[in-house]
Amino acid sequence: MTGNTLCIHGHFYQPPREDPWMDTIFPEGSAAPATHWNERICAESYAPLAWARRLDDQGRIIEIMNCYEYMSFNFGPTLLTWMEHQAPDVYARVLEGDRSSLARLGHGNAIAQIYHHVIMPLATDLDKRAEIAWALADFEARFGRRAEGLWLSEAAVDTRTLDLLAQAGVRFTILAPRQAREVADVAQNNWTAANEGNLDIREPYLVELPEGRSIAVYFYDGPLSQAVAFEGLLRHGDVFWGRLSGMAAQGGGKGLLALATDGETYGHHFKFGEMALAFALSQARAGEQNVALTNYAAYLAENPPKRRVRIHENSSWSCVHGVERWRADCGCATEHRPGWNQRWRGPLRDGLNAVKARIDQHYLALGQTLYADAEAALIGYGRVLSGLDEPEAFAAAHFKPKLTPAQKDAAWKLLTMQKWALSSFASCAWFFDDLGRIEPLNALTFALRAMQLGQRTGMEDLEPLLLSYVGQATSNDPALGSGHDLWTHEVRPRRESTETILAQALIHLWAEGRLPAPGGGASVHWPGLSVSIGVAEADGTNGSGHRAGKASIRWAHESGSDDCAWAWELPKGGDPLAGCIRVGETGNKCIPASYIPWGKRQALALAWVRRVEAEVWGRQVAETHLGAHLFLPYREAQVTQTAAERWDRLWSALCWQWIMGEVAACRDLLDFLTERGREHPERTLLARRVGRAAAGLLAQDKPDCHTLRLILERAAIVNLAPDLLEAQNIFWSRLKDDPTAREAGQALGFAPHPLP
Ligand SMILES: [Zn+2]
Repeated sequence: MTGNTLCIHGHFYQPPREDPWMDTIFPEGSAAPATHWNERICAESYAPLAWARRLDDQGRIIEIMNCYEYMSFNFGPTLLTWMEHQAPDVYARVLEGDRSSLARLGHGNAIAQIYHHVIMPLATDLDKRAEIAWALADFEARFGRRAEGLWLSEAAVDTRTLDLLAQAGVRFTILAPRQAREVADVAQNNWTAANEGNLDIREPYLVELPEGRSIAVYFYDGPLSQAVAFEGLLRHGDVFWGRLSGMAAQGGGKGLLALATDGETYGHHFKFGEMALAFALSQARAGEQNVALTNYAAYLAENPPKRRVRIHENSSWSCVHGVERWRADCGCATEHRPGWNQRWRGPLRDGLNAVKARIDQHYLALGQTLYADAEAALIGYGRVLSGLDEPEAFAAAHFKPKLTPAQKDAAWKLLTMQKWALSSFASCAWFFDDLGRIEPLNALTFALRAMQLGQRTGMEDLEPLLLSYVGQATSNDPALGSGHDLWTHEVRPRRESTETILAQALIHLWAEGRLPAPGGGASVHWPGLSVSIGVAEADGTNGSGHRAGKASIRWAHESGSDDCAWAWELPKGGDPLAGCIRVGETGNKCIPASYIPWGKRQALALAWVRRVEAEVWGRQVAETHLGAHLFLPYREAQVTQTAAERWDRLWSALCWQWIMGEVAACRDLLDFLTERGREHPERTLLARRVGRAAAGLLAQDKPDCHTLRLILERAAIVNLAPDLLEAQNIFWSRLKDDPTAREAGQALGFAPHPLP
């Protein structure tokens, strides 16, 4: 590769938001109207980067670029797990970005990331090995190849971590320049002290490790990366490109200019930041200013390190005090909160460490009787989570022969316990400024779940142990109180029981209109568990709305099931969340469903509103088919429709009928729809519905450009701008080179002759 080489890296990550029972993300009110922050940031950043618009000077689209093809990136495994199921089209573009860069450069753009984003220098040796092995298994399952590089959470590093990476076959990682302590030439002893000012960051360095192993380290351009994050470089594509190409040229044709940024900077922190990035990437792709795009692995293959580096042990990229931010009151994160402190960080770290130490003891002691090698089973479990290994094959390889069904179930439960115990160390819990934030509370919830699984496999209750530490911590907000208060009011109530799980399953079925009749059955599935519900023949309803039956709860990646009888007293015509669940044949414990935490109740409400709104919409569409015929032309002096306010309530469905070409409409109806639509509250939803219909026409086996154009023309007549992002994306991937689709392309906003 010649010229001034450039590599832009994006670190894409979200704190773990999964509920550790259902293993799914529940609504977060602060992200509304999106369901939660993963969904919202995906729409603002991950999706726009997958389909970044490049526009001409008239605002027409000349290219839709997949930025993941041209930038280096890592995604957290937990984030990709969510994306795979909830945003599969974006996920497909991420994978495609890696594949196409692999074909172009011989090395893919994707690198792995520590599985749970834990601060590696603060983890035990066993946890370090598990986090790396699970990360690499996850990467291999998704990208279909071994990872060459790995992103260390917060770039937090010590020599042991680097050595474990090297042992696992990882060839490089990326650090901040100030993490270098001293440098020397390879095979010479000319060590000199390094600092941010004198370190040449345009070459990879070699870190020598025990027993002859080594790993390469890249240092990213600190000031340039900072400028992208904080100085608004992304406001204009040409400004961003000018800075990048200018900096790249300073290498005089030698070395690599690399910057590392939080991926969410593009689009989420800076709206349209993805367009600035796409512009810069397109310039570099075209070889403008003699700049050539590469990625870390491709550069390393051609430029083996000529210099060595010794790192600062226990250092990171976002705490100048090392890794104190994740265990002590170091002062980071209180800059904007005078008077606040982070003395809570120590007790939180110590408490979770104490719990993990006891959990490891329990795991190894019981595991000795269940696994051929308990440590190897834990390290290998990531291959089950990633889907690389079938559970049966894993059990055959790691479980002792002739285990009873109960022992097998315990063996699986111990691994689930470790999964959530590891999850409790995600760095985000300590990163911010208070114990009362959602991240520390989530960490404690993961620990609660791990402790519950420990108890189910014979361990004592660790709550007193955890609280002996966390109880000493205090929120900066007096209203939230101590760690003990937060545990009692926020964390412990999240603990699921058979009653609360059944309550959610039953209300979910009811909300979706799927509650079985007597004698029937149905099931509800969450990624973490499935519930099969059977309703008894004689359920004693007698018109009272009460139901009873049997249920079976099966946990993901576990072999047993929890079976029970249940009774649900559904209040007649009242609040379904106020019903009472009894479990067991005698079942005299009444658990009102209102005990379910807010996010889970919100999910049930969402299931209800989705069904009811769809039903109402379906009915409106069916009825307004006739309504359009009955909207008579106005008489001579008539200026609006008689009973206009009632017609107005059907605005959305009447528009839909017209735009979809279901009905002819008189001029007065079209004027009415245009006039009433200016600020109609259903406008956004209708724009989305029409956009989805447009996308559907292009996605079908034989794309229907003709109907698409008619729809867009009719929408324009009533002054509705459909949400065309998805239709444009499909057009770009399927039809951009089809001459018969050219006019449809222009109607969708493309320039007449899109560039390849
Ligand atoms: Zn700090």
